[in-house]
Amino acid sequence: MNEAVLSARSLAKVYLSGTQQLQVLRDVTLDVAAGESVSIRGESGSGKSTLLNLLSGLDAPDSGTILWAGAPPAPNRRAEFLGMVFQSFYLIPELDAEANVLMAARILRSPGAAQRARAKELLKRVGLAERATHLPAQLSGGERQRVAVARALVNSPKLLLADEPTGNLDEHTGDAVIELLLALCRETGTALVLVTHNVAHARKTNRSLFLHDGVLR
Ligand code: ADP
Ligand code: MG
Repeated sequence: MNEAVLSARSLAKVYLSGTQQLQVLRDVTLDVAAGESVSIRGESGSGKSTLLNLLSGLDAPDSGTILWAGAPPAPNRRAEFLGMVFQSFYLIPELDAEANVLMAARILRSPGAAQRARAKELLKRVGLAERATHLPAQLSGGERQRVAVARALVNSPKLLLADEPTGNLDEHTGDAVIELLLALCRETGTALVLVTHNVAHARKTNRSLFLHDGVLR
């Protein structure tokens, strides 16, 4: 039996700016099974990042419920439960590739030999074994995003949330990052929610959904 890793029911989210009310999400329901990959497309401003913020527990819905492997999101479960990859990479500029990967492990415990070995292994798996001591400024966009992918997986999460991870990459580099992301999730049994504008990338996931008028179909 594949228990749902992620279960979201009837999520609604309204933003208030001044006197304006903007209902971004009306009724979003989503179940993601263990190891499953799901893509979400939608126009710019349709609420994709808002939805990922709710799914990651970084923001709260106005109504509706979210379960992470059957239990409500809690800040002290986040680092173990999920990893995130963003369009702008968000690496720490002062830290080299390996230290960036280890930053995510540091949330759980002070990294020891096992965590260092895991970071090295992941950097090798994303093709950056020779770049472990490079600073982000010494890496290309595609290489930075591969460091971010390694960082997202360092704690062996059950779920990876990726918000337009190829949005700042050229087509060829973006394709390679998506292949790597999908392969690594398959290998490790990590479920993936991939927000993308790229139809070809969306088609590579197990299930393709579309966010429109605050509803996910
Ligand atoms: P997407 O990721 O699909 O491009 P977003 O989730 O970033 O869309 O934004 C959805 C809508 O909500 C946009 O119209 C955006 O301007 C608005 N929005 C996003 N965040 C906020 C916020 N913190 N306050 C007010 N409006 C916001
Ligand atoms: Mg967005």
